[in-house]
Order: sequence, then structure tokens, then C-alpha cells
Amino acid sequence: MKQKPVISFEFFPPKTPEGLAKLMQTAQKLQEFSPEFFSVTFGAGGSTREGTLETVRQLQEKTKTAVAPHLACMGCTEAELTDIIKHYKKMGLKRIVALRGDLPSGMGHSGELKYAYELVQLIRKTADDHFHIEVAAYPEFHPQAKSAHDDILHFKNKVEAGANSAITQYFFNADAYFHFRDECAKQGILIPIVPGIMPITLFSKLVRFSDSCGAEIPRWIRKKCETYHDDADSIREFGIEIVHSLCDRLLEGGAPGLHFYTLNQADMSAILIPRLSKRFTK
Ligand code: FAD
Repeated sequence: MKQKPVISFEFFPPKTPEGLAKLMQTAQKLQEFSPEFFSVTFGAGGSTREGTLETVRQLQEKTKTAVAPHLACMGCTEAELTDIIKHYKKMGLKRIVALRGDLPSGMGHSGELKYAYELVQLIRKTADDHFHIEVAAYPEFHPQAKSAHDDILHFKNKVEAGANSAITQYFFNADAYFHFRDECAKQGILIPIVPGIMPITLFSKLVRFSDSCGAEIPRWIRKKCETYHDDADSIREFGIEIVHSLCDRLLEGGAPGLHFYTLNQADMSAILIPRLSKRFTK
């Protein structure tokens, strides 16, 4: 029997107390969808270390949902990472999203651990099996990978180091996900690979971000959004239609759940999830 798909929501640490208070309201709204967890991003090099911790702490205090901090090894020393892992364990957290990270330009040193699989190893060494470890996966392949095949083998390294499940970079082409999942299975990677879902709202921002992280916006979506110019309402309507049909196809095709990149807003997820309700009640 097919398992009921799981939902999770990703936030970034707000820069101001007002932003943090607003995020707590967003999280309280999203909690109604019974998510498996909320995750909170971490700036490589520790740039959001305090903000990530404070956001995680408040989510723990003000919601009933489990919280999974992200941890990025790039730009941090092994000792710093070990301290953070121990601290998260002390806080009673049970899940970590383990990443390499991307250093902001101008930030010099890359740290002692070069790849995410080394961070997975460090988490296992420091806390044994205490944490459920999530890692990143790339259906359209990571932009720095030498080849698609290498990228899958590097993903496999993270699984062999102890990752329990994966969240993907966002994408708008369901076939890329299905192909990637099947290629992973051929390599013996059988952990759940949950698609990361990005809403289409601020189109120009999405284009800039997608170019840098290697997520492809199909030409027909770009062209259609361009015809709307600055008509935010039309882009939003179109975006909901596209992302809804993507989520529906992914769940129909057996994706184990959906991880929403919320951009700290509840509205898009709150529109999409009820429309997908038949997929969540099976
Ligand atoms: P890795 O798995 O280490 O892979 C990075 C690259 O190195 C890939 O091209 C891989 O093929 C290659 N590689 C791996 N191992 C080897 C090896 N042994 N030899 C040669 N090449 C190798 N970034 C943040 O800074 N903070 C966040 O909170 C954050 N959250 C994210 C959440 C999700 C769900 C996703 C998908 C990404 C997130 N990112 C975050 C971005 C991520 O850090 C970047 O995409 C980064 O460039 C790669 O991280 P990774 O963990 O996939 O790295």
C-alpha cells in the first residue's frame, strides 16, 4: 500500500524581531497541515548561526511541529560544527538537514570539511544515531558536478555515510525528478527523495536565483511570465496553476512527500495543499 505523503516547510532566519514574530504566525498557520517538520536554513560560514538557533528555539517553543535545523559545513571548522551538533542534541532536536553550503562571495576560507558527506559522517561520529539526517539531491544535477553520473555517486556517498532521506533542489519538470529517482534506485539508493517545491511569485527574483543554483525554468514558463510584465496577480495565478499540476503529478507518480520552500510566507502553501487534498488522504 502507498504511504501517505509527508509535508514539510522550509524557512530562513528573519533579520529582525518583527520578522521573527511574523514568521511564528506563518508557522502557526502552516502547522494546520500537520507537517512532518519545519526546517530552518543556515548561512554557510556560520553567517546566520545565531539567527538559525533563535528561529529554531522559537519554533520549538511556539509550535507543536518538530524542527530540523540546516547545517552547512563550508566555512566552519570541525570543532565549530561539533559544538553545534551537540547543542542541537541538547535542545532535543531529532533531525538535521546536512549540507555543504555555498560561501558568499568574498568569504575566504572553505573550512575543514569539503563535502556534505563528511558532515554526515561527523554528525554520526558526534551523535551516533540520534539524528534523522536529511541531505540535498539534484534532479537536474548540481551545477558543479563533473557529470550526471558522478553527481549520483556523490549522492550515494552521503547515503552510505548515514543519510536517512533527501530533499531536492526545486525544479519545474516532473520527468527530471522521475528519471533521477529511477537512476538513483539503479545505483542502490533507496532512501526517500522528497521533491523541493518553489512557488512562482516574484518572477525576476526566481530567474536570478535559478540561474545561480542550476534549476531550470522551462522556456515556455519564462516566456509566459514575461508576457505578464509586472502584473503580479496574473503571474501568481499562472504560478499556482503550474506548481499545482507539478505537485499533483509528482504525488501521482509516487513521490514520498513535498517540501515547500515557503520564503517565510504561508499563502502559497495554504492555497496549494488543500487543492492536493485527495493525494494526502489516501
Ligand atoms: P555536496 O553533496 O557536498 O555536493 C556539492 C558538489 O560537490 C556536487 O557537485 C557534488 O557532485 C560534488 N561532490 C561531492 N562529493 C565529491 C567528491 N568526493 N569529489 C568531487 N566532487 C564531489 N545552502 C546553505 O548554505 N544553507 C542552507 O541552509 C541550504 N539549504 C539547502 C536545502 C536544500 C533542500 C537544498 C537542495 C540546498 C540547500 N542549500 C543550502 C544549498 C547547498 O548548500 C548548495 O546547493 C551547495 O552548492 C551543495 O550542497 P550539497 O550539500 O549538495 O553538497
